[in-house]
Amino acid sequence: MKLSLIVPCYNEQQALPIFHKAVTAVMADIGCEYELLFVNDGSRDGTLDYIRSAAAQDSHIVYLSFSRNFGKEAAMYAGFCNATGDYVAVMDADMQDPPALLPRMLEILQTGQYDSVATRRADRTGEPPIRSWFSRMFYRLINRISDADIVSGARDFRLMRREMVDAIVSMSEYNRFSKGIFGWIGFKTYWLPYENVERVAGQTKWSFWGLFKYALDGITNFSQTPLSIASWFGIGMTAFSFFMLCFIVLRRLIFGDPVAGWASTVCVIVFIGGLQMFFLGVIGQYLAKTYLETKRRPHYIVSETNGKDIKKIK
Ligand code: UDP
Ligand code: MG
Repeated sequence: MKLSLIVPCYNEQQALPIFHKAVTAVMADIGCEYELLFVNDGSRDGTLDYIRSAAAQDSHIVYLSFSRNFGKEAAMYAGFCNATGDYVAVMDADMQDPPALLPRMLEILQTGQYDSVATRRADRTGEPPIRSWFSRMFYRLINRISDADIVSGARDFRLMRREMVDAIVSMSEYNRFSKGIFGWIGFKTYWLPYENVERVAGQTKWSFWGLFKYALDGITNFSQTPLSIASWFGIGMTAFSFFMLCFIVLRRLIFGDPVAGWASTVCVIVFIGGLQMFFLGVIGQYLAKTYLETKRRPHYIVSETNGKDIKKIK
């Protein structure tokens, strides 16, 4: 049995040595064959230097280094495409996905009742309240309007069987949203809650705005509901305005009332104009995604690796 640990790294020179040490200790305890798949996602610091020198000493390390920063989603995809283990896990390099959980996860998988063991943070302490609120709303919304079943507080840290990894690799869409993909492909998942851990060193790469855009991406990637809302709104407004028109014409014919109110007319026009622009924007979002997908650009480009059968462009 072989275990593959995929570790996306972007500017993690401080955290990486700590992570490497911790994971090596845990794997020695477990005592099975394993590979550490470090994916250097175009780091600008000494991350690649560290990985190179570590790989020279530790034969478990296989690394891929991207030609630029492609984002964590691309790094995870590269990991999935090149992992050779029977069991595969994705882990952050900052120790927020504690390696100490691995033995427990492996145990659960080996009972044979589940296809994957996923982790979720049990609480959101230490997070700004506004961020928690937005993320709760996001999970509620996306589960309502899509068939990607996403658990609130889910992390990308999960251990999976080969079958599940193959399914993920087969989902080769360009706009990737892994939390949705994991849910979409199905399989039986055991959810393991754990207390949130702060990153050991370095800085998070996520700003509030970045997360917000990521959430919107998640929604457009897994749901057509915004488009339906646009259509229903259009139908509703048309029906409403038709009745209003009848009303005004009849009132004019029966009572001879001239229509008054320039200001209100302008307000209505501006309001409807705004709505049209908004929904045009929604359609534009989907169109832009379609455009990107049809170009079939690679997800990532590897400029350096120590592996033998590594897919360098995919
Ligand atoms: N990461 C990456 N590419 C990026 C951004 C992040 O590979 O463009 C990696 C990063 O090195 C870390 C993981 O993704 O191992 C999670 O990043 P981070 O800790 O910044 O996110 P957070 O835990 O704050 O959600
Ligand atoms: Mg982190």
